[in-house]
Amino acid sequence: MGKIIDINFAINKYKYQKPFHITNSISTDTDNVEVCVITDEGFKGYGEVAPSFRVNGETADQILALSKKSKDMIVGEDVKNYRKIFSITSKLISSPGLKAAIEFAVIDVLCNEIGIGVWEFLGGVKNEIETDKTVSIGTTAERVKEAVDIYKKGFKTIKIKVGEDINRDIDDIIEIYKKTKGVNYIIDANMGYTPKEAVRFAKTLYLKGIDVAVFEQPVINYDIDGLKYVRFNSPYPVCADESAKTRYDVMKLIKNEAVDYVNIKLMKSGLSDAISIIELCNSANIKLMIGCMSESSIGVNQSVQLACGYGCFVFCDLDSHLMLSEKTYRGNFKQIKNKMFV
Ligand code: MN
Repeated sequence: MGKIIDINFAINKYKYQKPFHITNSISTDTDNVEVCVITDEGFKGYGEVAPSFRVNGETADQILALSKKSKDMIVGEDVKNYRKIFSITSKLISSPGLKAAIEFAVIDVLCNEIGIGVWEFLGGVKNEIETDKTVSIGTTAERVKEAVDIYKKGFKTIKIKVGEDINRDIDDIIEIYKKTKGVNYIIDANMGYTPKEAVRFAKTLYLKGIDVAVFEQPVINYDIDGLKYVRFNSPYPVCADESAKTRYDVMKLIKNEAVDYVNIKLMKSGLSDAISIIELCNSANIKLMIGCMSESSIGVNQSVQLACGYGCFVFCDLDSHLMLSEKTYRGNFKQIKNKMFV
C-alpha cells in the first residue's frame, strides 16, 4: 500500500480575465501542467505547475520533457516515506515548479490514503485564511478603479504592482489611498527600482501619511545589499520574493539581515524548501507571506493547504485563480469573497 505506480502529466491552458501587467511582463494566458501521482491501490494525488519563465526559467514544454525522468525518479517509492521522496525531488533544481507539484501530489495521495486533509497533515493550525487581491500596472484610472472594486468586494488587503514609472506609481498610490482608506497595502515593485529610488518612493508615501504593510522586492533579485539598504533606510517592512527561491537563498538573506519578510511561493521552492524556509524564518524572527504565480484553483489549493496547516503567514497573496477564466473549479477549499476555508 502506498507505492507509486505512475505519474500523469497534462497541460491545461487558462486565459487571464484581463491582461496582468507587472514590471516588464504582461500575461494574457498561461499553460499550467497538472500532475497526478497514482499509487498501487488506485489512490490519486494532484498537484499543478504554474511555470514562471520570468522567475524560474520554466516552461510547460520543459516540464513535460521531464515527465519520464520524474517517473524514473520516484515510481516504486512509498508515499509514506515522503522525506525520502523529497530528498529525490530536491534534485529537480532546474524545475522548482515541477518539484512543487510532485511533492504536493505525493502528500495529497498519502493524505487520501489515510483519510485526512493535507492542511491537517501539515499541522492543522487554521482552517481559514484570507487572501488579498492584486491591482496590476495600468493607467491611473484603471488602477484606481481596480483598487476600489477590490475594496468594495470586502478585501482587507490590496496588493499594488509598481516598478515601471516611479513618479506615476507614487501619484497613483496617493489616488488609490484616498478611496480605499483602512485596508492594508502590499506594494510589489517586482525588482523595478534601484535601491535609492525605492527609498525615495517609500519616504514620499510615508510623508503623505500612507502606511504600507509590506514593500515587496523593491530591487533586482541578486542585490542583497540593495535590499538591506532599503530595509534600513525606509519606514516600511521590506520583503524578498524573487530574491528568495531556495532555503539557501533565505539563509543568505537572514545572515545579511536584508529583509523583514519573505514571500514563500511553492513554485519557487517546492513544498520541501517551503517548509524549511518557514522554520528558518520562524527561528530568525522574519515574518512570512505566501504568494502564487499563475496557478488555477488546483494549484492555489497547494498553497491554501500549506497556509492553513502551518498557520504562519501574516499575509496570503493567493489570488491567481481569481484572475483566470476556469471552466471547472478544482480547489479542495471553499472560497467566499476574500476568505478561503479548508
Ligand atoms: Mn512579488
